[in-house]
Amino acid sequence: MQIIPAKTPDFVKTWFPNFIWNINTKKKELYLTFDDGPTPEITDWVLKTLKTYNAKATFFCIGNNIEKHPDIFNRILNGGHSVGNHTFNHLKGWRCNTDEYVEDIKKTQALIRAATSADYASHLKLFRPPYGKFKAKQSKQIQSLGYTIILWDVLSYDWDVTVSKASCLKNVITTAKEGSIVVFHDSVKAFPNLKYALPKVLDNYSKKGFSFKGLQQNRDLLIQIPELSQ
Ligand SMILES: [Zn+2]
Repeated sequence: MQIIPAKTPDFVKTWFPNFIWNINTKKKELYLTFDDGPTPEITDWVLKTLKTYNAKATFFCIGNNIEKHPDIFNRILNGGHSVGNHTFNHLKGWRCNTDEYVEDIKKTQALIRAATSADYASHLKLFRPPYGKFKAKQSKQIQSLGYTIILWDVLSYDWDVTVSKASCLKNVITTAKEGSIVVFHDSVKAFPNLKYALPKVLDNYSKKGFSFKGLQQNRDLLIQIPELSQ
């Protein structure tokens, strides 16, 4: 059941102006994101599908999965995609203390840094909290460590087994517009819906003249966060 709306309401974005919900742009660009990988076979399927449309995306990876599947993580990087931190253990922020939460993020960031080589310093450090939830103290601390917190504009609900394939697709194509940040998952649970919806989303928006971009080197994002461009 969809409790949180597929489209994030504007008033929610206004409550949390320090988080990135979408890119402020009139350009025909979409920002697809994939959470919870790398996952054997599924992430490679996503990479192959994106490549067909010359699409770039952002992968919010779980540190534990990067550690288990370094080859897949490297294929994400070699594909020119952006990567972000999604904690090491997919922690529920509201269930753990801030030190524990931040340590989990740092452990993941060390893996990202080790794999990213010379380009690392020039890229934004992106973080998305699992479940989109964390304590205010945690979010402040994460930002003070230089992370840009990315939430979303559109939820596909691909992970929800009670949401049909058609609804998952509809959640995206009826709501995503210029600058939208769209959430998918390269996970086993989401795969039936993802496999159906992703090619159709790519096809639909390509035909409308959209391109698909990663968030890490995004100029508009730098403009949106003034302190980053200084
Ligand atoms: Zn997640």
